[in-house]
Order: sequence, then structure tokens, then C-alpha cells
Amino acid sequence: MLARLREAAFSSTGFRIPPAHGHAAGSRHWAEHAAASLFFTFFPADCRICNAPLIEISRLPVCQTCLEALRPLTGTLCSVCGEALLSPAFTDRVEPQCGLCQRLRPPFERAVAYGSYDGGLRDLIHLLKYQQVRPAAAVLGRMLAEVIASLEANLPAGLIAIIPVPLHERKRAQRGFNQSELIARAALKLLARPERFQSLPGGLVRCRETESQIGLTRHQRRENLRGAFAVADPGQIVKRNVLLVDDVFTTGTTASECARVLRRTGANRVYVATVARTLKVSEVFAVPEQDFEETNGDRLAAAANG
Ligand SMILES: [Zn+2]
Ligand SMILES: [Zn+2]
Repeated sequence: MLARLREAAFSSTGFRIPPAHGHAAGSRHWAEHAAASLFFTFFPADCRICNAPLIEISRLPVCQTCLEALRPLTGTLCSVCGEALLSPAFTDRVEPQCGLCQRLRPPFERAVAYGSYDGGLRDLIHLLKYQQVRPAAAVLGRMLAEVIASLEANLPAGLIAIIPVPLHERKRAQRGFNQSELIARAALKLLARPERFQSLPGGLVRCRETESQIGLTRHQRRENLRGAFAVADPGQIVKRNVLLVDDVFTTGTTASECARVLRRTGANRVYVATVARTLKVSEVFAVPEQDFEETNGDRLAAAANG
């Protein structure tokens, strides 16, 4: 009952979402604090990431400390796929490329990601995807906007079509939304030159449901996704430059398959922007996406609501 009340309180408040890199709470007007303490007397809540009690009113049940801990990737990254390049040999190169991209160029021009898919960023993405905490999309969208801005100098002139990686219709109905679409929409509002972009949320469709990608080799992953995506209306794609948007870039198989389908239809160049990226250095410890969805999603949901 309390959990339901809490949900209702969060979804019905019109309070602002705190910025990812916010200012000190001390500058706030006292009335806001008074309102907050009154509010939480009736609707106490904990941060869904670290479980600390929330002291600020927000539609997003995540504390300021957790939000401020979400940091962009640093260090040398592959200029094509965005993988972290740890060897000091790469540091002075202008357009460094990882071994994989050197051997075989992916069907996209560049893939960029805001942060590493672990810790708080993974938790925030899971809050949106598996616990339907929709205000998380605004924060994730801000990160996506930042990474799109960093890519902008490399984008060709003219209108760029923004296409979110689609979910299968059944999965979308089950979840109630496509997280990539929500994040893309939030990002678009924050871009410095929104007139450069055209939102095409239905540009790609997922025409069949796919098996779990766990334990598959790169080749098997590709085979698994073959024929999973299709272009809805080729007229929208031919000769167009596309920015493909997703929440997470794990092995790059999904982004590559979408890019391949777009290119085959006649798209000019395809770029990829995601909120998070699995880095090989952390891959050993990472929980595979599909695995989490099927087994741990409920556990996390239970933990956060319990
Ligand atoms: Zn927290
Ligand atoms: Zn690479």
C-alpha cells in the first residue's frame, strides 16, 4: 500500500527533475525544503540506487549523490566503435582504432557512448526498462544529447534522421514503451541545433523476436539477429544520413545489424549514439543484458519495492 502511494505521489508531482550535475541544495528557497519535509513525512522514499533516504522532491526516485556520480567516459577511445583503448601506444594517435575495427570496419561510421555500462548508470537504465520509472528517460536523454553534441562535428551536412533501435511489438506492448525512443525524444529537446535532426521513431521495425545472445560467439550473434530488423518505408531512408540511437551498446551486434539493414536499403551513412557502453575491461564482471532481463529483473524490482 505504501509503495503504491509512493508511486502515485511521484507520478503526480509536478516538481522538476534534478540536473545530473546539480548545484548545492543550500541555494534553494526555504519553502521548498519545508514542502519537501512535509511531503516526505507523508511519503517517505529511498533512493532506488543506493537506498539512502531522499531529501529532495523529485519525480525521479534517485538521490543527488547517485546522479552526480554518473560520469562520462574518459581516456582514449576507439574513434570508430568507442571501445576503451588502454595501451599507451594509442594515446597520441589522432584517430585511434581498436584491433577489431582495424581488421573489419563495422557498417556504421562511428559509435559513441556517454558512459560505461556499470554501476549507477546501469541501475538507472534498469530503473527505466524493468521498473517503468519513466522520469529516468529525461536524465538518460540529457546524457545522450551530450554525446550527440560531441559527435556533431563528424556528422555530414544536411538533415540527419534519428532512428531508435526498435523493440519487437510484443515486447514493446509488455513494457509499455521503447526506452530508446523515450531517451531519443528527451535528447532531441536538448540539442543545440534541433533543426539538423529529424525524428523517425518508426524508421526501423523489429520483425521477429530473437533468442538470448548469451554465450554466443560474435558470428552466432550475427546469425541470431539476421532478418530481425527491417526498414518500414525505404523512401524515408534512401540517400539519408542516419543517427541510430539505443540505450546500451554491448557487443555492437545490434547496432551493426541495424546499420547493415539501413545501408542495404540505401542509407548513405549511419552513426550510432548510446547512453552506455560495455567496455571490454569490465566485461568479465558485467551481467549480460538478456540474462538480467530474464532472471534478475524481478529480483531488482522486488529489492527496490520491498
Ligand atoms: Zn542514491
Ligand atoms: Zn573499434
